Amino acid sequence: MKAIALISGGLDSILAARMVQEQGIEVIPLHFKVPFCHRAKRSSSPEARVDSLVQHALSLPARIIDEGHTFLPLLENPRHGFGSGANPCIDCKILMLRTARRLLEEWGAHFVITGEVLGQRPMSQHRRALGIIERESGLEGLLLRPLSAHCLPETVPEKEGWVARSRLLGFSGRGRRPQMVLAEQFRIRDYPNPAGGCLLTDRVFSRRIRDLLRYDALTLENVELLKAGRHFRINGALKLVVGRDEEENNFLESMALPGDLTFYPPEDIAGPCALARGRMDEESLALCCRITCSYCDASEAPELTITHRAMPGTREGALKVPRAENDLLKSLAV
Ligand code: SF4
Repeated sequence: MKAIALISGGLDSILAARMVQEQGIEVIPLHFKVPFCHRAKRSSSPEARVDSLVQHALSLPARIIDEGHTFLPLLENPRHGFGSGANPCIDCKILMLRTARRLLEEWGAHFVITGEVLGQRPMSQHRRALGIIERESGLEGLLLRPLSAHCLPETVPEKEGWVARSRLLGFSGRGRRPQMVLAEQFRIRDYPNPAGGCLLTDRVFSRRIRDLLRYDALTLENVELLKAGRHFRINGALKLVVGRDEEENNFLESMALPGDLTFYPPEDIAGPCALARGRMDEESLALCCRITCSYCDASEAPELTITHRAMPGTREGALKVPRAENDLLKSLAV
């Protein structure tokens, strides 16, 4: 027997997969790359970290599927609404599980495993939501949630004896202690803390997502930019992002697309790199320079010369500008 195990990158999905693997089922770990994972300040990508966790816990490589383009439209009008942020969790899970269902036949698998725990998340893991997710993904009876199986109706794999129900669990609620004990039993020690994960549950990130939606600018490239820097809405057609440290400055430079403008402090003064994306005019150019100037050192200098560069290439200009006032910065901040 074979099962596809959805791996989120957190502990629960890994434990669920391992429990079923321990029963002699061949598990295929599947991770969906969504565009809202933390850009941690580390050299490895979120997918590389998931793969290493899967290798550590299951001794297998993870299969990774990029759901970026199919995920974005969910944010416009999710059928089952949002959680506390811009997180359409029920629709998101249905989307992933529909893909897993399609893959069952292709990969010769018989059912799907998730690490969902009844009552753990307010939006998507209460009893009704679990039922909706199972039904609308087309996996009725074929979706096994090993960590909470004893709290849920029996599934086909249990009824058919493919897995022993007695060796599944009845976790429920928000506590993490039972999962940690189980991880210890399996000697899984190198796992991320539960606060990591999806940025759509973050208040600031959600506000920035809504800003992109409002100005019809929700693209994968723009979402990636939201993961770094201070953000300013210059007008409906233009945004500026200002780096907060060297790593973010480098990141912003690496993210510049043809048509973007980058901004730099004077050579002898420490300051940020900034990136503007959208339609530029003279007034906006001056404002972007002033905002960049505001985050440069040399607080006593009344004005600084900010260089700007049109991407791609080397066409440069410069403007000598004063800092933007704090009230102005606040009014433009996203
Ligand atoms: S937290 Fe994010 S990735 Fe997870 S189900 Fe919700 S929207 Fe999808």
